[in-house]
Amino acid sequence: MNKTFCTYPWTSLTFLPGNKTKVCGANRDVEYDPASDRKNTENLKIARKKMLDGDQVDGCEFCYEREKNEYWNTKRKESLRIWGKWQDEFISQTKEDGTTNFEPFYIDYREDNVEKLQKVIASLPRIRVLKLYKINFMQDWSKAFNELKNKMGHFYCCGETDKIRFDKEFLGVQSRSRRVSVIHNLKNNSNSETIEKVKEIQGILNGAEDEVQLYINVKGTITEDFLESFTKFDREFPDIKLRIYASDVLKQRGDPIEYYNKEIGIIKQMRNIAEKTNNQDLQALYRQFT
Ligand code: SF4
Repeated sequence: MNKTFCTYPWTSLTFLPGNKTKVCGANRDVEYDPASDRKNTENLKIARKKMLDGDQVDGCEFCYEREKNEYWNTKRKESLRIWGKWQDEFISQTKEDGTTNFEPFYIDYREDNVEKLQKVIASLPRIRVLKLYKINFMQDWSKAFNELKNKMGHFYCCGETDKIRFDKEFLGVQSRSRRVSVIHNLKNNSNSETIEKVKEIQGILNGAEDEVQLYINVKGTITEDFLESFTKFDREFPDIKLRIYASDVLKQRGDPIEYYNKEIGIIKQMRNIAEKTNNQDLQALYRQFT
């Protein structure tokens, strides 16, 4: 397949507050969707047409930029690896104007309306992936989760150390795999608080394919407290993916994944850690600048 093709415009639906949506969680351009027909919005139709023609899609710079560097994996490439096998189906079920009949199975949900999520799940007979991000974790989401019984593949949720839910009621969603991404906010969270929360989740997520990830939120330039947190977490959790949620990612409004801007000081500051750690994200980051 060509260098712009990606499965997300066929497989996923994104729900943002205020009837807004995007081509995927990492795409930059937000679109208003008053009809709530998330499957065939204007931006999705345009994206599909362009991708099938091998043209670049506005707002997908997040992936294109990262693909300029051989060290980084991208959401686009990852999607092809997992769901690329259905590309013939995508093409055969897509009309010339980009409209598709392909049934999406990935929900990226960022609203606080439990009843709405319940209806969305019920309307998608083959939902396999549910990702919850920036939701109000204090609400009772079990009503929506009940719709998922026996048909889910992957459950992802993501939130800051002091906001995310860690109890069994929330994390016990019936799913083949569960992935919880904890975001350590350098300003709001202490290292010990984050370490304690991660251990708590590890006690609950005991399935063979379950995973805990730990992101460090870096706003602006890299600072001493970032380095201190990174080394502490790296030592405490040698098997956890430590990732960096940096200012460039925030600027491009993409998902929080491992990436860092061209901060010259980072090379000097990170050399010592990079030489000692087994963390592949940090090693890739370091190689990118040397
Ligand atoms: S931003 Fe990346 S993952 Fe999202 S639709 Fe574009 S190419 Fe695909």
